[in-house]
Amino acid sequence: MDCYVDTNLLLEFNPLLNKRAILVNFYGCNFNCPFCNSSELRAFRSDAMTDISVIKNEIERVSSNADYIVFSGGEPTLQRLILNSLLRLSKRLGLQAAIQTNGSKPYVVRDIISQELADTIILDLKSGFDKESFQASTLSETFFTSAGQNLAKIRETLEILKESKSHVKTIVTTAVVPGLTDSEEALAEVYSIASKLKFEWVLQRFISSTDFGAVRSPEFSEKKALSIFEIQELLGRINKKNIKVRVV
Ligand code: SF4
Repeated sequence: MDCYVDTNLLLEFNPLLNKRAILVNFYGCNFNCPFCNSSELRAFRSDAMTDISVIKNEIERVSSNADYIVFSGGEPTLQRLILNSLLRLSKRLGLQAAIQTNGSKPYVVRDIISQELADTIILDLKSGFDKESFQASTLSETFFTSAGQNLAKIRETLEILKESKSHVKTIVTTAVVPGLTDSEEALAEVYSIASKLKFEWVLQRFISSTDFGAVRSPEFSEKKALSIFEIQELLGRINKKNIKVRVV
C-alpha cells in the first residue's frame, strides 16, 4: 500500500510527552497555516510516496529504543488506513502511541480511540472559536470547506476527547506566534477551551524553521517571538483555574 510518510524516522526526547519517542511524519495537510514551519510536509509530494512496508520495517528496527511513537506531520488523520495500520503495528511492538492532529477529522479520531490504538491525542489548537481568528491562523477555508465547517469539526473532536477522557490522554498545544497568538487576549481564548475540559495545555515557543522547512509567511519570522519567560508571565495572568500548563 502506498503512503505519503517520511521514511526518516526520528528518535528523540519528546518534550510534550516527556518520553523518548519515535517521530513519524506524514506528508500532506488540509490547513494552510501562515506560520507553518514544516512547509515541506504540507504537500502530498509525489517524490515522498513510499510503500508502507518501508515505514513498518523502520518502526520495527528502532522500536526497542523508545517508549512512545508519535504520528505527526503534516496531518496524519488524512491518511486514515495508513495511520490505522501503523498504529496496529506499534501496539503489537509494545509501544505507546500518540497522534498529533489539527482536529479536523473527528471520525478518524473516534475510530482510533474506539479501537484503543492511541494512548495520547495531541490536539493543536491554533486559536479560540472565533471564526476570523481561526481563519487568520489556519487559512484553511477553501471552495469546498468553510472556516466555520472546520471549526465545527474541531469542536466535534474536542467532544470526542472529552467523552474519552478516562482512557485517552489529551494534550492541547498552541504555538505562540508573533502577531497572531502572542497576546493575552488570543491565548485566553484557547485557555478557556482547554480549562473547561480540564485538558493539559502546552504552549510552544515559536520557531521559524525546522528540518522540514522555514516559516511559510516571512512576516512571522521578522517579528520577535516571545521568550519562555515572557510566555510564562502571560500565563500567570490567564491561568486562574490552575489547569496543568507548560511552556516548551
Ligand atoms: S501548522 Fe500543522 S496544521 Fe498548520 S499547515 Fe502546518 S502542518 Fe498543517
